[in-house]
This record gives sequence, structure tokens and C-alpha cells, in this order.
Amino acid sequence: MADESERQDVSWRALWQETSAVLGDRVHARWICETASAATGDEFLSILDEPATVRMVAHLDAMVARRRTGEPLQYVTGHWAFRHIDLAIDRRVLIPRPETELVADVALRLAAAVGPTRTVVDLGTGSGAIGLALADELPIVGTTIWLTDASRDALDVARANLAGIGRSAQNVRIAEGSWFDALPAELRADVIVSNPPYVAVGTSELDAAVGEWEPPEALFAGADGLADLREIVAGAPHHLVPGGALVLEIGADQGAAVRTLLQSAGYDDVDIRQDLAGRDRIAVARRAR
Ligand code: GLN
Repeated sequence: MADESERQDVSWRALWQETSAVLGDRVHARWICETASAATGDEFLSILDEPATVRMVAHLDAMVARRRTGEPLQYVTGHWAFRHIDLAIDRRVLIPRPETELVADVALRLAAAVGPTRTVVDLGTGSGAIGLALADELPIVGTTIWLTDASRDALDVARANLAGIGRSAQNVRIAEGSWFDALPAELRADVIVSNPPYVAVGTSELDAAVGEWEPPEALFAGADGLADLREIVAGAPHHLVPGGALVLEIGADQGAAVRTLLQSAGYDDVDIRQDLAGRDRIAVARRAR
């Protein structure tokens, strides 16, 4: 049994060094060592000369072995930062991406402008990233956030993450089902936000590691990648208040098509926005008043 009393005579400094050499990446090595030591940031730097426990070294070795097979770092460490929260993640859900933090930011501003109460729906929440970040950042008083997903596995991850956001968790409802089927029929939201699957089946654009490791049901949406976006655009007016906002993550080559979808469906204020790389990434529109 490894416990605090049974230590290996190897410091975190040496382990970080060794892991960096094996992985050829000092930053990745640090994230893995931080996860193994359960110390992050300055706390990790303060334990560099302390020895690791046998259990911690075993955990570190297992993570290094997984990373060496090409498994994404975020699945290997089992957690990743999204805005101000740390999410548990594994292969049941997509890895949270920086561009999705921007999608959350747009939804956050729209929801924050509504008061004294506000209802937000995160459709196809996966790990819970967008909806839980909103719950975390919006006022505790007056906020209700619905998280939905068709995947029970994904909702198990979201539920685990819900436990990690503290007092704001009281504002969150979790509902299983495909898109709007998950919601009570009478529910009207001020903001509906979603990062749905939007990758075209058979595309050559997808990063190889994404295709190999991430859940296909969270990525692919028909031959043109628009199947789920079409369904959400069609259904959202029935679940938005008049003037309520729809915020969608979209593929870089889908801006024009999604603009047309939204305009044809009668939405107002249709706007296609770019991510930090300058690529079309976010569609915003309002239900007609
Ligand atoms: N942005 C992701 C990728 O291309 C796709 C995410 C999604 O389909 N929602 O890797």
C-alpha cells in the first residue's frame, strides 16, 4: 500500500524533468505532473523539491504511457480549464475548446442583459462546459440554466461537473433528450446556446487526433455538417421568448449557409462572428418580436 508514510525518493523536479524528456514537451509534462501531484500553479512550484509518493508516481507513469499512444492530453489528465471552471472530461465528451469559450462569452453577455430573471438553455451540453460556465458567471439570484444532451454518458459527465461549481449549481437543471425533446414543452428561454455537431461526414478537414479520440456523435452532422444546426434553427423559436437570442457554434465554412438558414426561418438581427483566428465561428440571431 502506498501512502504518505511510504515515499519514493524522487522529487517532483526530477519527475518533471524526466517526463519532459520522454514527451518532448515541458508544458505537457508539467500538466501531467500537476495532475499526479494534485498541486497546481504556484503550489506545484513550491513542492518541486519534495518527494512524490509511490501512488503518485504510478499515476504519473500511467498518464505518460497513455499520452505516448497519442491520446489527447486533456483525456489523459481527465480535466481541463474552461473559462473560470475546471471540468472533468473523458472520452464520453468533446474536449472543451478555446473557440467555445467565445461562444459562451456571447451567450453570457446576452443573458446578463436580461433581468431580473433569466433562463438559458445549453443544448447538447456534453461536459457541461458552456452551461456550467454561464451558471458560474451569471448572478446566482434569478438565473436558471438548462443543460440537455441526448447522450446519457455525456450527462453523467455534466452532472459530475455540476458538483464542482459550488453554490451556482442550485440554478442548473439537467434534462436528457435530443435537442428540444429534452425540454418541458412550455419552457421559454431568453437565450439558447449550443455547440452542436457540425462536421461534415467524410471531411478531410478534421484533425486526425480529433477523429481518432473524440466522440463521433458530438462531431458529425450529415453530409454537409448542417443537419443538427438546421434542426436547432427550426425548433428554437418555439422555445425562445419573443426577442430571445440563439447563439450557435458553427464551422468556419458554414457562415453563409447558417446566415441563410436563420434569415429564411424569420429570425432578426442575424450576425455571423469570428473566432480569434478570424474564422467564422459563431452565429447569433433573435427570435422575431
Ligand atoms: N470544432 C470541432 C473540431 O473541428 C468540432 C466541434 C463540433 O462539431 N461541435 O474539431
